Amino acid sequence: EERDLFPDVIKDVNSQVSFLNIRNRILQLWLDNPKVELIYEVAVQRLTDLKEISPENVPLSLQIHKYLERHGFINFGIFKRIHPIRKIKKAKVVIIGAGIAGLAAARQLTSFGMEVIIIEARDRVGGRVSTFRKGKFVADLGAMVVTGLGGNPITVISKQINMELHKIKQDCPLYETGGSRVIKYPHSRNWVVRIIVPREKDLLVEKEFNKLLEATAHMSHEMGIDTFKDQQLSLGKAFELVINLQEKSVKEQLLAHWHQIAKLHTGPATRKVLSRMSDLKEAAVKCRDTLANLPTMADMEDKECEKSISNEFERRCIMKDWREACTEAVELNEKRLNLESEIVAMEHNLPSDVYLSSKDRQLLDWHLANLEFANAAPLDKLSLKHWNQLKYLNNLRMNGYEFSGSHLVVRNGYSILPTAYADGLDIRLSTTVRKMSYSDLGNAFVKHVLRTLIYVFATQILCTLPLGVLNPPDPELDQGPTIEFDPPLPTWKVDAMKRMGFGNLNKVVLCFDRTFWDAASTNMFGHIGATTSSRGELFLFWAIYRAPVLIALVAGKSANVMEHVGDGVVLSRAIAVLKGIFGPENVPEPINYTVTRWGSDPWAKGSYSYVAVGSSGDDYDIMACPVDKNGTSYDNMMNNGGNPRMFFAGEHTMRNYPATVHGALLSG
Ligand SMILES: Cc1cc2nc3c(=O)[nH]c(=O)nc-3n(C[C@H](O)[C@H](O)[C@H](O)COP(=O)(O)OP(=O)(O)OC[C@H]3O[C@@H](n4cnc5c(N)ncnc54)[C@H](O)[C@@H]3O)c2cc1C
Repeated sequence: EERDLFPDVIKDVNSQVSFLNIRNRILQLWLDNPKVELIYEVAVQRLTDLKEISPENVPLSLQIHKYLERHGFINFGIFKRIHPIRKIKKAKVVIIGAGIAGLAAARQLTSFGMEVIIIEARDRVGGRVSTFRKGKFVADLGAMVVTGLGGNPITVISKQINMELHKIKQDCPLYETGGSRVIKYPHSRNWVVRIIVPREKDLLVEKEFNKLLEATAHMSHEMGIDTFKDQQLSLGKAFELVINLQEKSVKEQLLAHWHQIAKLHTGPATRKVLSRMSDLKEAAVKCRDTLANLPTMADMEDKECEKSISNEFERRCIMKDWREACTEAVELNEKRLNLESEIVAMEHNLPSDVYLSSKDRQLLDWHLANLEFANAAPLDKLSLKHWNQLKYLNNLRMNGYEFSGSHLVVRNGYSILPTAYADGLDIRLSTTVRKMSYSDLGNAFVKHVLRTLIYVFATQILCTLPLGVLNPPDPELDQGPTIEFDPPLPTWKVDAMKRMGFGNLNKVVLCFDRTFWDAASTNMFGHIGATTSSRGELFLFWAIYRAPVLIALVAGKSANVMEHVGDGVVLSRAIAVLKGIFGPENVPEPINYTVTRWGSDPWAKGSYSYVAVGSSGDDYDIMACPVDKNGTSYDNMMNNGGNPRMFFAGEHTMRNYPATVHGALLSG
């Protein structure tokens, strides 16, 4: 992008160095104090003071400042303005949705001088950023984790507003409910049954999980296997295949072991020992018989002296052979005993006849549930090849889009961000958009309904509706209104929408009068489910706030299943899990609770996007592309063709940062 915008700079190395110095210095000045607008005059003065800029580069510095501002690298978020905003005439944008994407776009467009109206169906801003607040209790019902600060635009905003970021302790003990390990629980005077998975066992299975995950990546990216029986493979199917291969290899190892035992029983080494021993036995019998028939010297004394000597010679020779045979027999017997004990040892140390015991499988399922939580989808829905688009691009491994640093939570609630962003914007709450029309002439308009029908005219529309609202993922959970586009969206856009996945993830917030978990050393603990199909049900509990609040996660297949279960039942299941872990007498009744149902939420219809089987990162780019009345092709649109009136933003339009708050923010 910079190469295209600054073609003169790439011509020689000196210009490139000057460009980078000026650009980075301006960025640094902004990051040092993001609470105040960094106007060009101040920036250039500071650069001159620091001797970072020569007079001939002053015009370049103005261009760079403009570029950084226009692209939202500086002067974004909530900051004190130095220069008043210059209004642009006849530039009116209507933004659908006051989630992070809509709010971020509105702030940027407003600061560029445009007139902006946001239309929002809910009675609040923030969309999928929503915080439960009751008295001292705070808990995020939607987005909660900031995935590292290095490179993350949320870092700047956290300095502008009072976001209380708290590093999450990564240690996560896993518990089974039921069993027999007894430990003293820190906050209890009683000895309670608390079945914690031994750390070594947990680490072993986690290592195996990582190996399996690597194997699925290897299968797809190195070996190019991403279809099976002409069907595109899902990550879940690939896991199944790799686990089956491991099972097969375990069976083969067992077979090889039995072969080895059989070989020891009847193989050439054993046969040689046994046959030699039998020869020796025969020879010994012969010796004994010969000796018995030989007259001794005494018997022969006065008879034939010569013969008696020869007899004695023969007797002694036989005795010598006998002794040698005895020595060899002893050695052979030792060998036989060694072989026997080797066989016994091998029979006692049979390798496992299964790759995963049922306990191992439950532990592995916990890790798989954790992966399903991160993707908000069962693994059999995720594209094997493309699910991890942050790590792989065109089969190449890359880490460029992951932020550095620990993961954090916003202790005073993430909704502080959209609330601050909404300040001063023209937002029409509780207003549902049903139809969006767009034409060539720039008179795009939306129709929204709150008992009455109102039309809002604008020069452009920015649609930040969640993918779930644009293309409901689950007809069973679908309750919301459908959205009409006039003219209908072009097929290239609709097809991408259909290919993409929009998943589900739910939370159960439990507020107590006291902590009964180990709040000092961990921020989370896991609960191991009984079956593979229910592995995502209440599998992880977060304890991250000051007040005694737990957030239990419901992920994978369970996320949709639990949407059909009443609050009372969900609550009693959560409490039963906690009592199974901490002992019934240690778990009080919650004083407050709430259960999310993002899948049935008419304004979300799910939690966030994922790369479904058949989809890829390209679909995110297609979703980000604007459309025009004439249904101009995607390629043409991307080459600045057409006459775009309808634009799109939202987490599902950000190939490199999907499914996140920072992604939604950057898309806006
Ligand atoms: C349970 C859960 C956990 C999450 N955890 C994290 C996390 O830890 N970290 C992270 O970074 N991200 C997380 N996310 C994802 C993050 O919340 C989203 O990616 C982000 O908030 C999306 O913002 P958006 O502006 O694209 O969409 P939204 O926030 O959904 O905004 C769209 C807006 O459009 C409105 N709307 C819908 N239909 C209509 C209509 N017909 N008319 C008018 N308005 C309408 C909606 O009410 C909404 O306000 C989580 C999400 C969920 C649900």
